[in-house]
Amino acid sequence: MSYIERVIEQTKLKDKDQTVFIQAVEEVLHSIAPIFEKHPEYEKMAVLERLIEPERVISFRVPWTDDHGQVHVNRGYRVQYNGVLGPYKGGIRFHPSVNLSIMKFLGFEQCFKNALTTLPIGGAKGGSDFDPKGKSEGEILRFCQSFMTELYRHIGENVDVPAGDMGVGAREIGYLYGQYRRIVGASERGVLTGKGVVYGGSLVRKQATGYGLVYFLEEMLKANHIDPTGYSVIVSGSGNVAIYAAEKCFAKGMKVIAMSDSKGYIVDENLDLEVVKHIKEVERTSLEKYVEYAGHGEYYTGSVYDGEVCAKIVLPCATQNEINLERAQRLIDRGVVAIAEGANMPNSNEAIALYLENHILYAPGKAANAGGVATSALEMTQNSMRLAWSAEEVDSKLQDIMKAIHAQCLQAMREYDLPSYNYVAGANLAGASKVIEAMVLQGEY
Ligand code: NDP
Repeated sequence: MSYIERVIEQTKLKDKDQTVFIQAVEEVLHSIAPIFEKHPEYEKMAVLERLIEPERVISFRVPWTDDHGQVHVNRGYRVQYNGVLGPYKGGIRFHPSVNLSIMKFLGFEQCFKNALTTLPIGGAKGGSDFDPKGKSEGEILRFCQSFMTELYRHIGENVDVPAGDMGVGAREIGYLYGQYRRIVGASERGVLTGKGVVYGGSLVRKQATGYGLVYFLEEMLKANHIDPTGYSVIVSGSGNVAIYAAEKCFAKGMKVIAMSDSKGYIVDENLDLEVVKHIKEVERTSLEKYVEYAGHGEYYTGSVYDGEVCAKIVLPCATQNEINLERAQRLIDRGVVAIAEGANMPNSNEAIALYLENHILYAPGKAANAGGVATSALEMTQNSMRLAWSAEEVDSKLQDIMKAIHAQCLQAMREYDLPSYNYVAGANLAGASKVIEAMVLQGEY
């Protein structure tokens, strides 16, 4: 049995209930085999085992009181995965599905994504199984304060710098930062990113993941001599990533014709993104209201990937494992040209294998959605320098970073003699080789 297979088997035994974590480990490890063929000495140094085991897993109690005086207890997590490249960095997710397996899969992926940004940040992830849906402003505030009351002792601008993720936007980051500042009694803006611009946030951070995704998509299409002007696009999700991916698609002359949320999806040849923004960012409610507000389009329940709608470009921007083998086959049958992941691991490993088999352009999340964390790192830089860059300056740096990530993927494909559509292996090899090299140089054993 090869070193890679042995470590995968060990992980399956050790963490047998952590299915999404195992899925992420298999996806990465299978494609980084060439590094270990080049460096057989890494086996003796247990490089893979060290890559897979988080440096630290913190799990904690989060008690909070609802508006009726009832006390609830949720579970909080911070997984500080790998700090060889810089302070741990990764988002916080508030969603009822959050568990250790999801935290570890996201933290593991984050290490390679952060390495690809070329910025000095390590990998981490955190969150809670708290469901923000239907909670009042006061309940959200109290939950965030309680969450930070434990988390503060584990973070710091040179230690670990959390940001937002699903269920955690600028409002929650504000409440988290406010509580951190009160506890430590100091202004340490660099401890969290995704802050409001008025107290140290970066312009373009909110848009960065979605915009960055489209910048990466453009690079990938350009490298394959495809001009996407006029192409139809399906964007799944209608949260932070999805909305700004859709905005940038329109700005680039593509046509978004469908978006979704956890209950259903809208299909509209004249999709009105301002209405989607109002529903999701202002009313924080369901897309069910879209047709009534926009006066056109159609709403369906269920997944957008099970419906009739088809497009040349697909941008999954909702959550993990939205597209399985059957849905992937349907996209291919209907003529998809490129799939770029705004979400983390929205495609199953079987779906990814099918894209590769069919030579479909597929951009994995760790490369394509790295614009968010990259701009978070730019926010950290601005905080350290105690100055703020203009939107144009940040956006131009974001574009450069996405181009650099794309170039690294291509370079890795060339170096390891892989076909030019294998962005999965390109991203994994480029990201992992940096983390591994830093681990070895730091003599981490
Ligand atoms: P948000 O919470 O803002 O939005 C999530 C969206 O996904 C919502 O529209 C939500 O619907 C929808 N959704 C949730 N669960 C499901 C489901 N089971 N089926 C269909 N739709 C679902 O999160 P973000 O936009 O911040 O994050 C989306 C993805 O992007 C995540 O995978 C995240 O890890 C990843 N990501 C985010 C980054 C960021 O900067 N925010 C950076 C890099 C990656 P509803 O509105 O009904 O809840």
